Amino acid sequence: LGPRLVRDAAYSYVRPEGGHENAELLAVSEAALRDLGIKEEDVRTNEFKEVVSGNKILTWDEEREEGIYPWAQCYGGYQFGQWAGQLGDGRAISLFEVTNPDTKVRYELQLKGAGKTPYARFADGKAVFRSSLREFIVSEALNALKIPTTRALSLTLLPEARVLRERIEPGAIVTRFAQSWIRLGTLDLPRARGDRKLLRKLVNYIGENVLGGWGALPAKLSSGEINETAQSPEHNVPADKLQGEGKEAENRFARLYREIVRRNAKTVAAWQAYGFMNGVLNTDNTSVMGLSIDFGPFAFMDNFDPTYTPNHDDHMLRYSYRNQPTIIWWNLVRLGEAMGELIGAGARCDDEEFIDKGVRKDWANELVERAEHLIEATGEEYKAVFMAEYKRLMTARLGLKTFRPQDFDELFSEWLDTMEALELDFNQCFRKLSAMKLARLEGAEARKEAAKVFFHKEGVAGNEDEAKERLAKWLDKWRSRTVEDWGDDKEEERMAAMKSVNPKFIPKSWVLDDIIQRVEKKGEREVLDGVMKMTLSPFEDRWGWSEGEEERFCGDVPKYDRAMQCSCSS
Ligand code: AMP
Ligand code: MG
Ligand code: MG
Repeated sequence: LGPRLVRDAAYSYVRPEGGHENAELLAVSEAALRDLGIKEEDVRTNEFKEVVSGNKILTWDEEREEGIYPWAQCYGGYQFGQWAGQLGDGRAISLFEVTNPDTKVRYELQLKGAGKTPYARFADGKAVFRSSLREFIVSEALNALKIPTTRALSLTLLPEARVLRERIEPGAIVTRFAQSWIRLGTLDLPRARGDRKLLRKLVNYIGENVLGGWGALPAKLSSGEINETAQSPEHNVPADKLQGEGKEAENRFARLYREIVRRNAKTVAAWQAYGFMNGVLNTDNTSVMGLSIDFGPFAFMDNFDPTYTPNHDDHMLRYSYRNQPTIIWWNLVRLGEAMGELIGAGARCDDEEFIDKGVRKDWANELVERAEHLIEATGEEYKAVFMAEYKRLMTARLGLKTFRPQDFDELFSEWLDTMEALELDFNQCFRKLSAMKLARLEGAEARKEAAKVFFHKEGVAGNEDEAKERLAKWLDKWRSRTVEDWGDDKEEERMAAMKSVNPKFIPKSWVLDDIIQRVEKKGEREVLDGVMKMTLSPFEDRWGWSEGEEERFCGDVPKYDRAMQCSCSS
């Protein structure tokens, strides 16, 4: 079965392979059960296991041939900056949509690794255990950190499915769910094919069904105002230029574009604030809902290094930590181009003639120019929303109640530069700061002593005295800002507030590797339950599982496991 092009369609019906008699249900996320509205006792049934193993299609009546038949989505994408043509769900199969009866939130549930689809191209439709475990845990970890993400319900081991990658490995299926799996690449594909009809249909679908409806989109931009919450007067919009009779600048498509941009700006700000890297930010791995999506060679930062990329094949550092905000914008410009005809058309976007025949020659240039202006203006909005969210998160992580303009350089940048220079652990530094008593920071000598808590067990990079000096200086500034915001009798409250945003546990690459080895090679199971507890409540101090294991997984990264990289073959 070779590659096959699917035209005039956004998805294809396809059934999971099934027949996995020895499937073992390894883990279920309790947080996922709550959010989906599934009862604990239902998980213990054989039916649940059969469904998440791909053996049974719950919503399809075989005899009467009716119900809901599973499907795989069609999309394209720019990979490493190059147009890659049709991709699609090569190994993900959506089973059904489910609405939580209490929250009324609707999710699309899918199996990843349950067999080939029409989009599998030359690949096998399977997923190996190690990458499935990584995806299962990181989905729930990001959600626990309040970072928008696709989710994972369960992890099923397929011991008899021998999957060939660098070696022969056991297979697995992750049951994933999201309010939408539509990616920027979903719109790139009809644009590349010149399929105006499908493109419009998809955009209308997103506007009506995905982002809360047309009514929930941001209000129109007016001149000089991008976003009041961002407080960035320097971001002026050339909105006046865009106005004109019968072709007002912002139609609903332009507002939809801005909403997609705003959501992605917030998510990438959260990645930066928590040191998360996706590793392959192609347009097929960028969600229209701004969810973190498609977890391959992702990683959380160990020692802070802005040039780090977790992707072994990313030689240009395109998907490195510091490039993520730029790359997401690059992807969003591709989306702006895909939606260009719709967003540039102003009020004429609903003319029958426009819908049927496309852009009339006599105003094509005008339309393109208007679309370009709108994309450019939205770029300013992207920066403003990104900065506002990044500042909000960093302010909270540093335990401050307010943001002052000088905080950006004096506190944020100097904190990060110090971590980088001294090779300190990114997330641990914030957690350790949360527990810092201000009394320990009175007097230069005391501060230097206190500075040592940020060091690794085996010490610090470079000269130890200079390192203490540098941290002590920063701690002094931080102390006075903290007193300014909290007074000096609210230590308990300040610490509690900081702990609630600075996780003790982060599923770093070495932790995931450790679990994979133990589950796969040694047949351990308890370790996965324990780590899931930590994953779902990362801000706790203790999880009542195993104190030794807990401390080890929250402690220093073993020296030879730092800044690991992953290849894409999963
Ligand atoms: P990714 O690099 O994860 O974004 O995947 C790029 C494309 O390759 C997507 O269309 C995937 O569905 C597809 N793909 C990756 N691995 C497999 C596999 N083992 N079987 C089928 N399709 C795959
Ligand atoms: Mg992908
Ligand atoms: Mg993938």
